[in-house]
Amino acid sequence: MPIKAAAYAAQTGKTPLAPFTIDRRDPGPHDVQMEILFCGVCHSDLHAARGEWEFISFPVVPGHEIVGKVTKVGANVKKFKVGDRSAVGCLVDSCRGCPQCERGLEQYCDKGMVGTYASPDVHFPGKMTYGGYSKSITVDERFVLRLPDKLDLAASAPLLCAGITTYSPLKHWGADRGARGKKVGIVGLGGLGHMGVKFAHAFGCHTVLFTTSQNKVEDGKRLGAEEVVISKNEAEMAKHAGSFDFILNTVAASHNLDAFTNLLRVDGTLCLVGAPEHPHPSPSVWPLLMKRCTIAGSLIGGLPETQEMLDFCGKHNIVSDIEMIPIQKINESYERMLKSDVKYRFVIDMASLK
Ligand code: NAP
Ligand code: ZN
Ligand code: ZN
Repeated sequence: MPIKAAAYAAQTGKTPLAPFTIDRRDPGPHDVQMEILFCGVCHSDLHAARGEWEFISFPVVPGHEIVGKVTKVGANVKKFKVGDRSAVGCLVDSCRGCPQCERGLEQYCDKGMVGTYASPDVHFPGKMTYGGYSKSITVDERFVLRLPDKLDLAASAPLLCAGITTYSPLKHWGADRGARGKKVGIVGLGGLGHMGVKFAHAFGCHTVLFTTSQNKVEDGKRLGAEEVVISKNEAEMAKHAGSFDFILNTVAASHNLDAFTNLLRVDGTLCLVGAPEHPHPSPSVWPLLMKRCTIAGSLIGGLPETQEMLDFCGKHNIVSDIEMIPIQKINESYERMLKSDVKYRFVIDMASLK
């Protein structure tokens, strides 16, 4: 019998999030059921809840930075027992048989990953998956992560999306490899950006933060950036022309990419992880041609790499800088996120959801 769980949902893209009750399946043989204690608030939740992405259907229960403890396990579950700390990120299933899934890149599954929210739910035909703005969730153990014991639980929640989404491209493009420290730029100091700065710094890169917010300069340095550049200041930007190996762009709004491709050195890469509602203006080809540069994209990370990232965070004591909110402040927190007024991730204390 499914269990009822309290949640918060957007019923349409134009209505605020409000209380909603959802069904969660009883654990099957390979399932883990967990009580959600904290859930991070990603800008993707806002894009989804406000209908900014055309593939979203309603109602939406957002939330894919989920941490808590195991309350029940199926008969064949090996990795978890009742009472363990556990975490769920942006995906809860995939086909498991395609070349991508076999490589542990489930986020690029040929059949399409099953998102933690807003994907068709095979367990409840006709319904969509519901995310972490809720009291509990049931997920196959293959898609549940282990959290290092020493990490603060609430501050670990954002690792499940903001963490892996920045860790994965930094690793893929070799920010942690090479004879000399790479010069790496992180664009935007929000949820993703502040984790990007922390990881680039931990990988030994010469880390430069690009921000539009003058008041984030000191925080950028405290979080690990050697230099902070106000991206609206053309003279400051020009000083870095042709010098970056890699730039990770986390900005949640459409903007001119040429400002950043101009800063790449030969064979440099500008990787986009922001997913704005409206496309960026078409970039100029010249900076790309003249320096054989690449504009790339990256989507979250697969399960093995997400576990690797969590273990790396355990070893290096890396968590997110968070501001805790009760779920009743979720709509207000979205407004603040739109004003770039968050230091640097909202996390919902799920005890506030009755
Ligand atoms: P966030 O916390 O709101 O941070 C975004 C930051 O971008 C802001 O803090 C701000 O930083 C900067 N910014 C905002 N508007 C800007 C503008 N008009 N021009 C220039 N800079 C601007 O958002 P987030 O949670 O980090 O998410 C960022 C984006 O990544 C969202 O679009 C989200 O959907 C997407 N995302 C993608 C993936 C993926 O797998 N690819 C995963 C998660 C999220 P400053 O104040 O420093 O300028
Ligand atoms: Zn996210
Ligand atoms: Zn697959």
